[in-house]
Amino acid sequence: MSIVSVENLCKNYGSVQALNSVTFSVPKGSVFGILGPNGSGKTTMLGIIMDILKATSGSYTLFDEVPDENSRRKIGTFLETPNFYHYLSAVRNLKITAAIKERGDKDIDKVLEMVNLTERKNSKFSTYSLGMKQRLAIASCLLGDPDVLILDEPTNGLDPVGIAEIRQLIKQLHQQGKTIIMASHLLDEVEKVCTHVAILKKGKLVATGNVNEILANDDIVELGAPDLEKLKAVLKQLTGYSSIREQDNLVQLFYPAGTTNLENINRFCFKNGVVLNYMQLKKKSLESKFFELTN
Ligand code: ADP
Ligand code: MG
Repeated sequence: MSIVSVENLCKNYGSVQALNSVTFSVPKGSVFGILGPNGSGKTTMLGIIMDILKATSGSYTLFDEVPDENSRRKIGTFLETPNFYHYLSAVRNLKITAAIKERGDKDIDKVLEMVNLTERKNSKFSTYSLGMKQRLAIASCLLGDPDVLILDEPTNGLDPVGIAEIRQLIKQLHQQGKTIIMASHLLDEVEKVCTHVAILKKGKLVATGNVNEILANDDIVELGAPDLEKLKAVLKQLTGYSSIREQDNLVQLFYPAGTTNLENINRFCFKNGVVLNYMQLKKKSLESKFFELTN
């Protein structure tokens, strides 16, 4: 089953084309990253899925069906989260949110526990750190125990500890079987927490699929030796790699994914008089892939 499936979605704001015929689908149980630089159309996409914005053209389904009130109620989201009252506690704020959403009044203690705010649940919102405020926002999404969460840039503005907490929380929610759709402009974040990704560039989809598959177009073998010049000379005789590069006193060999044989490389170097002092197989990072896709 797909949780969300969008087809040829377009959105224009006057002359600005924010989304240009975007098609992808979000598998059940995935952590699905919508990745793209600022202005690439991520928030617009999420707004359309939540019926806050109307698409100019194209269509989408929720849970494989034409979206309605009922299907949207199975989705918890930030986008419609009201601002919290500064002078009220987490519990009082969530009571208000639950009343507005008309769901989850009984879940307040449970969701506060899930986001690790139980100890501070009676403190005023104004005394919370940014990370705690963000976790409270996620708690409000969890009211009513939705199967799906939609988060727009959930770690924006947080310090490293706050970021780590949110990422941990997303992973936990994923393990509990929830599907999470999150917009992010951070490659690193998508690489760390997402199972699937759709990459947007100026409103256009440039790639979508399993994060590992999108990543795994190249293997990189990094080699080091006491005499780097000699190593490079020897590697000229080696076949099988698609390109060679030098970086930080290491030689990098690029291989099509899955075609690398470290033993052969090691043996070849040794036979030709080079003893390696470093050898590592790396996946091409999403970062280089991202730049390749968006530049
Ligand atoms: P992202 O969330 O990826 O940063 P947005 O979806 O917010 O991107 O914006 C996509 C594009 O649409 C940008 O060029 C932005 O300036 C434009 N845009 C967004 N909202 C509006 C709006 N209400 N009116 C006009 N242009 C908008
Ligand atoms: Mg945005």
